[in-house]
Amino acid sequence: MKLILLGAPGAGKGTQATRLAEHYSIPHISTGDIFRANLKAETPLGLKAKEYMDKGLLVPDELTVDLVMDRIAQEDCVNGYILDGFPRTLNQAAALDEKVAIDAAVDVEVPDEDIVKRMAGRRVCPSCGEPYHTEWKVPKKEGICDRCGAELIIRKDDEPETVLKRLTVYHDQTQPLIDHYGKQDKLVAVDGTLSVEEVTNAIIAKLEA
Ligand code: AMP
Repeated sequence: MKLILLGAPGAGKGTQATRLAEHYSIPHISTGDIFRANLKAETPLGLKAKEYMDKGLLVPDELTVDLVMDRIAQEDCVNGYILDGFPRTLNQAAALDEKVAIDAAVDVEVPDEDIVKRMAGRRVCPSCGEPYHTEWKVPKKEGICDRCGAELIIRKDDEPETVLKRLTVYHDQTQPLIDHYGKQDKLVAVDGTLSVEEVTNAIIAKLEA
């Protein structure tokens, strides 16, 4: 099973990708996670990507496409994979189309106003990476990581003005992919405002229909 997860930033792609990866026993490949890991390790790629990520912009295709192509060529991808956050531009989609035939592109649909609300509450532990939310995943002690005791922060790209920029970038550059996969008859749309479990079940039901 080769799947793509589409949807605005904050639509829950990462959560769903993790659950689907477990269900289908295939790797979850998140370009955002790969960039963040590189940033943490201060690799040249990470430092370059940071310039764009902090502004809510997309990392250029030439830094992104080869990274994903190398990753999906690895041995653990022989039975498929879930791409979370890639492709994000028509150029990236064309590069992927050239190499592989995906089974489906899942669009997790969430209105912009819900996205803004969700992202405003996001917090993360800068030390161990554990994610929190002021409404849905509240730490036992306010502002402090349950796991390691570090002070929680707002990720630079979750700050309100960056969120709005990311949404604009999503509508301009990524939303056209919905049409792209629609034309290929590979689009599977689900209501991303339902509970995490309901969304996963809806995706699996539609994929297996
Ligand atoms: P994410 O965690 O998927 O929201 O990604 C965080 C940030 O990483 C994005 O706002 C982009 O700056 C960058 N990024 C992730 N995936 C891509 C991609 N496929 N193309 C370009 N930039 C990306």
